Amino acid sequence: MRIGLTGGIGSGKSTVSSMLVGLGAKLVDTDAIARAVAQPQGAAMPALEAEFGPAVIAADGGLDRARMRELVFADPAARRRLEAILHPLIGAECERQAATAAPGQTIVFDVPLLVESGRWRAIVDRVLVIDASEAVQLERVVARSGWTAEAVRAVIAQQADRRLRRQAADALIFNEGLSLAELSLEVQSLWKRWTAADTR
Ligand code: ATP
Repeated sequence: MRIGLTGGIGSGKSTVSSMLVGLGAKLVDTDAIARAVAQPQGAAMPALEAEFGPAVIAADGGLDRARMRELVFADPAARRRLEAILHPLIGAECERQAATAAPGQTIVFDVPLLVESGRWRAIVDRVLVIDASEAVQLERVVARSGWTAEAVRAVIAQQADRRLRRQAADALIFNEGLSLAELSLEVQSLWKRWTAADTR
């Protein structure tokens, strides 16, 4: 079984994915893969330089993310060209990692933008949404990263709203007002339900 795990920034995706790994899942962290392909020597670097020129390459040979952000912010066609390079490489690396799962092992794809990107729905069997209010997202991310409230709000505004995510969910965990122990119990109960129903 393939589970797509998603939720807004600071909702608790990483916390839940670690719990699922503790229960026996294989984790594929798509955010980490997306970062890795555009790091120095990353698989996307030759194509990115060929497509956008040396101006988007940082001194260390990785992608100059600030420069790239500026480029795609102003130009939707550039964003599509960027995605046409990144998505197949990220997809291939996800599949490579998924293929290292043990036979019958449940695979959890942690995909922050699962609802936004659309293509993930066909890749996973079930979607698990971790939900929290904006106030709690804000509080957690500021506490964890020291970002300003303003910066966190800007990220939240770019992500799908909670209603859209809820519509995409096969199961939803409301991760608010729960201790980590209580969250873990919810994750265990869902894991039992889904792995028992899984026939493959
Ligand atoms: P991001 O999108 O930024 O990667 P995320 O959705 O993966 O965030 P986590 O990193 O799991 O979120 O959680 C954000 C912070 O909130 C972490 O510091 C985590 O320990 C804390 N946290 C998450 N859930 C709970 C909870 N139920 N009780 C207490 N702290 C929590």
